[in-house]
Amino acid sequence: MSFYLKYRPQNFASLVGQDHAKKTIQNALKSHTLSHAYLFCGPRGTGKTSMARILAKGLNCEKPINEIEPCNQCNICTSINAGKLVDLIEIDAASNRGIDEIRELREKIVFAPSQAKTKVYIIDEVHMLTKEAFNALLKTLEEPPSHAYFVLATTEAHKIPETIISRCQQFTFSRISVSDTSRRLQEIAENEGAVYEKEALDLIAKLSAGGLRDAIGLLEQMMTVGDVTAEKVSESLGLTGSEHLEKFFAYLLERKALKAIELLNQIKSKGKSTAQFLRELISHFREQMLINLGNSKDTQIILDFIETFTTAKQQMDLSPIPELPIEIAIIKACGFAVEKPKDETVPQSAQKKEKEASAVPAEKPVTPKQESQGELQMEQIKKDWHRVLEAIDTPFIKMSLLDGEPIRYEGGILTISFASSAYMEKVNNAANQAVVQKALEKVFGKKLSLNPELRKVNLSPLTRKKEAPDTKVPGAVEMAAEVFGIKQDQNQT
Ligand SMILES: [Zn+2]
Repeated sequence: MSFYLKYRPQNFASLVGQDHAKKTIQNALKSHTLSHAYLFCGPRGTGKTSMARILAKGLNCEKPINEIEPCNQCNICTSINAGKLVDLIEIDAASNRGIDEIRELREKIVFAPSQAKTKVYIIDEVHMLTKEAFNALLKTLEEPPSHAYFVLATTEAHKIPETIISRCQQFTFSRISVSDTSRRLQEIAENEGAVYEKEALDLIAKLSAGGLRDAIGLLEQMMTVGDVTAEKVSESLGLTGSEHLEKFFAYLLERKALKAIELLNQIKSKGKSTAQFLRELISHFREQMLINLGNSKDTQIILDFIETFTTAKQQMDLSPIPELPIEIAIIKACGFAVEKPKDETVPQSAQKKEKEASAVPAEKPVTPKQESQGELQMEQIKKDWHRVLEAIDTPFIKMSLLDGEPIRYEGGILTISFASSAYMEKVNNAANQAVVQKALEKVFGKKLSLNPELRKVNLSPLTRKKEAPDTKVPGAVEMAAEVFGIKQDQNQT
């Protein structure tokens, strides 16, 4: 038997969290004022159906403890625990969406219960019912027989018709706290005699994001491969993390929306949830923000990222396509992250395409400019600067170099001006300089010496956007259209 079933809470006391719903229902049981219809809303794995079954036992138990807890020993309790009580009818609306099931329910509901005192109907994922089924259900909810009780459960409350909601007493089930989840995992691990690190349990609790069912499933999975250590948990869940996060961060700074989306898909295909990735990403941004506190420009960029991705996180639960908000966030972040190459003569979209085109096959050798074409000019360096960035594989060096701007080329020495001393120092380091030089050589076919220097006037956080008033920063929709190759011409006419 899976841990989830084995450790399913059998009474109110053992149900983790949801204290408000618990107390209200217990009071109603005691005073015999239970509502005939409840609506439990909340994320998966937060105890909705467990609570519904405990409620069914509480209503029908032959020897309830203090009138508020099922005994789990009488005939009724044991048959419910075994899933055999005919008077407890569970309907999974996700697989029985149709009018037929509800019609059958309506025909049979009038008959008295056969074993228990009451009939309890639990309709899980109720938002999946068809409109006709909802209408049929509504008629029943309007005048339920006195022996019938309903518990409707849903992860998507906003899809339930108002008419149904108004007939129900509604409870919102919240995500279970990390400490509560961790404590429950510890009870299970001890009971199973597992060898575990507390840190590993905390990590599982954090990763399951308030879904106890997922947490217990993860624990079980970890236990099948031996001791439960934090290292093993992060390893098996693909949380090698910081590497991915740094790469993703670098793509945003480089405005490579497509690359960032590709990386996101890669991470997802390794089994990590988008929500999980977003949490780690936001926490990575926070670290970066604290590291960069001394630099107003960098801090502003990171603050923008945090805001954009936090909003995406909030929208994820509401979006019909859970990935859409994060994809939009990527595009927004890329639209505002870094200055565009300052080549005013090339239209923006063309520039972008050129950038993307040179970005896709990173292996494609960039044709070196021939010496015979004459001495390397500063304009040439500026124009092809983005190619130099493309030619660097190490995200951190690339990111640092993005802060710099080539300003002077004299006697084989290229001066790069940096706004941030942290980035300047990074490029000034001998090993990193060699990487940059190699990239320069690849693009210009020539070995250049580097002279990184600190820009004297610090750019105000807003300069970036003000700098190019005539090349307007594209809106998210335009950027999305461009990235996904959607033609907008029809709409513009
Ligand atoms: Zn009982």
